[in-house]
Amino acid sequence: VTALPGARVLVIEDDTGVMHLIGTVLRRHGFEAILAGTGRAGLRQLHEQRPGVVVLDVGLPDLDGWQVLERIRDMSDVPVLMLTGHAEEPDKVRGLRAGADDYLTKPFGLDEFTARLDALLRRGSRAATEASESFVDGDLCVDFARRTVTLGGDPVPVTVIEFKLLTALVRHAGQVLSADQLLRLAWDDGSGIGPDRVKFSVHRLRRKLGWEQLEQCPIEAVRGFGYQYRRRDRYQTATNRPSPANPHT
Ligand code: CA
Repeated sequence: VTALPGARVLVIEDDTGVMHLIGTVLRRHGFEAILAGTGRAGLRQLHEQRPGVVVLDVGLPDLDGWQVLERIRDMSDVPVLMLTGHAEEPDKVRGLRAGADDYLTKPFGLDEFTARLDALLRRGSRAATEASESFVDGDLCVDFARRTVTLGGDPVPVTVIEFKLLTALVRHAGQVLSADQLLRLAWDDGSGIGPDRVKFSVHRLRRKLGWEQLEQCPIEAVRGFGYQYRRRDRYQTATNRPSPANPHT
């Protein structure tokens, strides 16, 4: 697991043993850990420190984890990973409904823990991309509000479908989308349209963007999975690759 640089993790947990263990693991993986022993202290830290992700224990001495979660959601969309005890397992569904993004049942493996955090942080940075009005990568700019695509400032004439397709890919940059997912995202009615249509549109899009001749086209076909947009201006870690492309998993 490779932590995104400077990722701040707020840990709200009253068990000092667990808290310091988590803190140590986080620092070792390059995260910055902010520790809070009560719900109220956690909420204060959330407000002051603006972490990229929150780890929240259900059992806390002042407010319980659910109440803390509710207050977090009143002020922030930050990804929340809930920690629950075995006795609280049935509460998982409740947690996800209440706005938790993921949960782990104690005791959990530390590798599992850091992998989940990493996934949440990535999701968080994607959410930031979704909320933004444009996507810029190298000379490419996709303006979501104006619905325009430019390369080095020059407009690229794309069809509505091609614009939606490119939007879907860049908004999920670093994530492989299947042909089915792309059909749903780019075609209003994807029913009755096969994956060949997606392939065809991706091909046309690449040609319009002049990316056909590139050794590494940012719109990459991942055999057997689908397509992904790979940012050129940012180093992508191996964790984003589907496992068959990664011989170590
Ligand atoms: Ca606890």
